[in-house]
Amino acid sequence: MGVWYVTSRKHSLRFGGRVKMAPTHVLRCCQRGLAWIPVIFIALVVCWSYYAYVVELCIFTIPSIAEKIIYMVFFHLSFVMFVWSYWKTIFTRPANPSKEFCLPKAEKEQYVKEERPESQQEILWRATANLPLYTRTGAGAIRYCDRCQVIKPDRCHHCSACDMCVLKMDHHCPWVNNCVGFSNYKFFILFLCYSLVYCLFIAATVLQYFIKFWTNELPDTHAKFHVLFLFFVAAMFCISILSLFSYHLWLVGKNRSTIEAFRAPVFRTGSDKNGFSLGFGKNIAQVFGDERKFWLLPIFTSQGDGLTFPSRLVNIDPEQPTVSLQPEANKSIEDVPASPLSESQNHLLGNEQHANNVTEHLENDSSWE
Ligand SMILES: [Zn+2]
Ligand SMILES: [Zn+2]
Repeated sequence: MGVWYVTSRKHSLRFGGRVKMAPTHVLRCCQRGLAWIPVIFIALVVCWSYYAYVVELCIFTIPSIAEKIIYMVFFHLSFVMFVWSYWKTIFTRPANPSKEFCLPKAEKEQYVKEERPESQQEILWRATANLPLYTRTGAGAIRYCDRCQVIKPDRCHHCSACDMCVLKMDHHCPWVNNCVGFSNYKFFILFLCYSLVYCLFIAATVLQYFIKFWTNELPDTHAKFHVLFLFFVAAMFCISILSLFSYHLWLVGKNRSTIEAFRAPVFRTGSDKNGFSLGFGKNIAQVFGDERKFWLLPIFTSQGDGLTFPSRLVNIDPEQPTVSLQPEANKSIEDVPASPLSESQNHLLGNEQHANNVTEHLENDSSWE
């Protein structure tokens, strides 16, 4: 099948003065539009739950003023935190590999021309000599994304839905229409936490009115149906979120992404599912940061830059080019510093703007089949 090389920003072809849209571009636009349906569904459910709780329950059903006020205050607190963390999970752009992980132009051309995998690997080995890479493919090769044309940093994976390489990719979540990864993992955990709090609060406070409607102790008004549904929907969401939330808390404690839980990362010394685990406390700090006062706020406080991560296995590998970045060999796992990078590695952060632009740049240059 032939490949169409389409110029940047204009995924259209001109025929006789008329603009004909490339079918793949139209298809992609449709897919992007449809991908928002789960988010819109959640937003509609949340809007209705707000109306049902505030208007139908608090204003029309609850007789006591004091009870109304207490419920409204706690409801709005959990509502704001839930919406804030949901918003941040949806709209935080996934972090991509920085320019250091792109092959230089000459090597890239050489890599594309080269057909033998061994020779391609040789090019990659040369290019990665000074990069802090500790993980490999299952076959022991350098992890390279042919689609994005970048060397994948540790824990980075290509997301086919976002069509980009995402740092410390956890999974692509349709309910937030975004990739959950290094840049928004904390927000995602908080989103699960606050949605659970929101649903639990609603279910707990609605329960007595739910029973009263059921036993005909309250007048048979239209509020009855809102209260009945409010309880059912909140209880249903509680059950489903609880399992997901507990699973992700367990992953945070182990310093594992969902992808790594299914397929253990492969280091030069072999695969190890606990390769990135630094001990419970430090694993928590990797995602939530050192300062506890920010743990419950959807503000980015995760440690590191998403490109390199401290590993307990790295010490026993004699081939490490950047061993100074990693924990010292004579330290126990508990002594391992939680901060993954020394100052010398911060050059990787230097061109943040470029890092964010890598995907844009690649997209502009990309081909469409
Ligand atoms: Zn990629
Ligand atoms: Zn994605």
